[in-house]
Amino acid sequence: MLGNMQEGQLLISGLIEHAETYHKDTEIVSRSVEGPIHRYTLKDAANRSRKLANALGKLDLQQGDVVGTLAWNTFRHFELYFGVSGIGCVVNTVNPRLFPEQLIYIINHAQNKYLFVDLTFVELVESISDSLESVKGIIILTDKDHMPETKLKNVICYEELIADESNEYDWPVFDENTASSLCYTSGTTGNPKGVLYSHRSTLLHTWIVSSGNVGKISSSSVILPVVPMFHVNAWGIPYASAMFGAKLILPGPLMDGASIYELIDLEKPDLLMGVPTVWLGLLQYLNETNQTLDSVSTALVGGSAAPRAMIQEFEEKHNVFLMHGWGMTEMSPLGTATSRTAEMDNMDIESRYDLQEKQGKAFFGVEMTIADDDGNELPKDGVAFGRLLVKGPTIVERYFKSNESSLDKNGWFDTGDVAKIHPEGSMEIVDRSKDVIKSGGEWISSIDLENAAVGHPAVAEACVIGVLHEKWDERPLLLVVKVEGKDLSKEEILAFLEDKVAKWWLPNDVIFVSELPHTATGKLLKTNLRDEYKEHLINTGK
Ligand code: AMP
Repeated sequence: MLGNMQEGQLLISGLIEHAETYHKDTEIVSRSVEGPIHRYTLKDAANRSRKLANALGKLDLQQGDVVGTLAWNTFRHFELYFGVSGIGCVVNTVNPRLFPEQLIYIINHAQNKYLFVDLTFVELVESISDSLESVKGIIILTDKDHMPETKLKNVICYEELIADESNEYDWPVFDENTASSLCYTSGTTGNPKGVLYSHRSTLLHTWIVSSGNVGKISSSSVILPVVPMFHVNAWGIPYASAMFGAKLILPGPLMDGASIYELIDLEKPDLLMGVPTVWLGLLQYLNETNQTLDSVSTALVGGSAAPRAMIQEFEEKHNVFLMHGWGMTEMSPLGTATSRTAEMDNMDIESRYDLQEKQGKAFFGVEMTIADDDGNELPKDGVAFGRLLVKGPTIVERYFKSNESSLDKNGWFDTGDVAKIHPEGSMEIVDRSKDVIKSGGEWISSIDLENAAVGHPAVAEACVIGVLHEKWDERPLLLVVKVEGKDLSKEEILAFLEDKVAKWWLPNDVIFVSELPHTATGKLLKTNLRDEYKEHLINTGK
């Protein structure tokens, strides 16, 4: 027997309508690309999203057409999230940090009809424009006074595009499974793969990220998402702001420690969101300038593993709970978090850090298990580790334009991560399956070694890769970037690691480098390093 309830569609346009009705005075503060701080309200955002919707209609966009953005976190990008998806088109947030060939691939593969581009990226688009196959015009996200000289064809100024449009618009109602936005994974090998979200998956994910176990987002929240709107929809925060009337502080193009702190000092956020490298920059700035984070109660960190030293510094110097989250583009992105519990508050601090170092428990709607290479499920005993498999309504079924499902015969999606699941439910990432070091048939976690190494005060960043070894097939090699002005020898760092990891995990060699390569989303890029140092232990006999 079916229930007797209504079948309203979960649509992104509904979010901005709700925001306007119930949270109209909530502020969206942006550091604009032009420089000054810009402020307006959710009511203004709703008005301008409808103007944009009218303008998009005149650009002859049909439902299902894809529109690209190359843009920072600002109010104009925020409007695009609602205006484009609201009319039934798809917003493809392109990560401008990718290599030009990858940008060309994505824009052509997604068949972007128009590109909405921040001033910062005009030159970048000029350099690839001859290779773009489907783009009919470029809209520059600025006003008339700031329009640049450009050799691009069919260029439109965003503020002029929407200026004379009516702010009346009836958002169309369609199936909630309609595509709403498109993000590409920044894979380290092969072409990027598209993940096509739906209105339904986006709204379900918005409830997850806002829930009591994650962001606790409400109309009294003040959130600073440093995580970019071009990377998995800034973890869904723009939508959550509209759903709950939370104030947003959008950092625009400046994400260094000093600029982020300036916004924190000015707007007093209680919740921060970003990847570990951003927090490293902020903590370094706070140390240099002797300042603290007084308004902030929680910082959500994810995208890469958060080192214990970072969790500790946030807690002990700033009284900020570092909530460790894990997810991926294919999961909208959030899958787990180390939510703060009453139990945590009553345990000794080191045991609490042990929990915070793990990636946390899955949310309702995300099922997860671990399996061996043959797909046999492994025990969730905190000891066994294997491929991390997930399922749920906010998780990809197949990649964009693929004819094949990405799920196994039991409906699981293989995350490509290797993990343990502890008896109480916490998940702990051991490594990416391709980064784990296979030494004589046993596995060594590169992440655990890296996290232990960055606990040394003279280590700014550490990277561990598996390289060829005559006897053990593969052994760990540690690459270290030293903190400026500090001295550190091989022997010192190895001695420091000795009581932190199993003896047979200790790296066979340590190499000091001036910098480490990163992917477009800030993760260590290990493929080239593995090639470069492949023979290092063989050649040196270590
Ligand atoms: P992306 O799709 O770019 O968001 O990357 C997703 C991948 O980042 C995951 O599959 C993990 O390998 C890694 N990742 C994300 N969060 C964490 C975390 N908290 N700890 C360790 N790895 C993480």
